Amino acid sequence: MLARNRALANLKAGYLFPEIAKRRRDFLSKHPEAKIISLGIGNTTEPITPHIDEGLVQGARRLATKEGYTGYGDEQGMTALREKIAQVFYNSLKDCRQISADEVFISDGAKCDIGRLQLLFGASVPVAVQDPSYPVYVDGSVLIGAAGPWNGTGYEKIQYLPCTAENNYFPDLNRLPTNGLVYFCSPNNPTGAVATKDQLTALVQAVKQTGSILMFDAAYAEYIRSPDLPKSIFQIPGADTCAIEVNSFSKPIGFTGVRLGWTVVPKTLVYEGGESVNADWNRICTTVFNGASNIAQYGGLAALDSEGLKEMRQLTDYYLENARLIRHTLQNLGITCVGGDNAPYIWAQFPGKTSWDVFETILETCWVVTTPGSGFGPAGESFIRFSAFGHREELQKPASGLNGWHSRPSFDIVPPF
Ligand SMILES: *Cc1c(COP(=O)(O)O)cnc(C)c1O
Repeated sequence: MLARNRALANLKAGYLFPEIAKRRRDFLSKHPEAKIISLGIGNTTEPITPHIDEGLVQGARRLATKEGYTGYGDEQGMTALREKIAQVFYNSLKDCRQISADEVFISDGAKCDIGRLQLLFGASVPVAVQDPSYPVYVDGSVLIGAAGPWNGTGYEKIQYLPCTAENNYFPDLNRLPTNGLVYFCSPNNPTGAVATKDQLTALVQAVKQTGSILMFDAAYAEYIRSPDLPKSIFQIPGADTCAIEVNSFSKPIGFTGVRLGWTVVPKTLVYEGGESVNADWNRICTTVFNGASNIAQYGGLAALDSEGLKEMRQLTDYYLENARLIRHTLQNLGITCVGGDNAPYIWAQFPGKTSWDVFETILETCWVVTTPGSGFGPAGESFIRFSAFGHREELQKPASGLNGWHSRPSFDIVPPF
């Protein structure tokens, strides 16, 4: 019989979200009257806004005409969209390295691209990740064979960089690998922390000094409201010789189901031997990817004109207001938390308790489903992630139920933590 890919055998079972779903089911079977609010999963909830939706609709209509029909497009994406992304998300930012359209590659989403980008570096690359982190950095490394076996707390060949309250959720840069791949996400999922310009400058310097490449995930950049916080790694001097940036339309305009993202690979980024990473990425895109949906790309174009950008701002404002409500309530309860002001996640600390115990308490007393921080890596233990993706009216809906706690998120009633 054909043997299983050893890398797949190494992959620890995806345990977090199925376990959350199971506990929610168990709770509901005991308390069918409970009206549960889900602040657990990082999935968008609000409808696509009218102008952007019209872009999708018109894009689909165009395909039904002789003049407008297109089959396969360029694997790298529509030129107009690549130009527009370069202009809107990079070239109009303060201090940003100017990005040209042929440095922008349109994708079917950031997660998919992160999976494919690992093909650039193969199985022998040393990998470092923030701990806690978005799961695909680690799991993708396992799949390509770069991770080594699970040793009980982590994968052997992965360098985990703890991001905790003690270091203000920014890792110790002395622990970066040499000639490795460093994943970094800001605004961060799950912690909601956003790295400052000084922190990113130090990160870029450390990555360059160690001969590594930085894989910068900016999926939440459009949630940044503080004008001094960088939205792109290419606002940091030197990043264009050591960094790749992945980004996505999922979180800013609710394209989680439509599927559209992009990756910027600067032409100034080279390997040890001087070969172009941009040329290799182009080769990979034309080989194992056939381009993002043309309809989705028409939607992306609509999102980047002035009306679309207005809607993007309104939608991200909506989720940020949810975040503010959640954070305000947690703070009133005396719970220490970060995030939520430039990111749609709030990371709440429960010292001395396990994440799963706190998850259970919140579920039982508030009827709120959260995400246990320990599911994002060992340094997430004792934390809970609250997601701001949800309907406002759900968040504020009073419900009668257990112990009278359930006048939830105005979240104004104090649960017994
Ligand atoms: C949601 C998310 C993405 C986006 O993934 P898509 O595949 O574009 O939907 C990327 N990175 C992080 C950290 C995310 O939370």
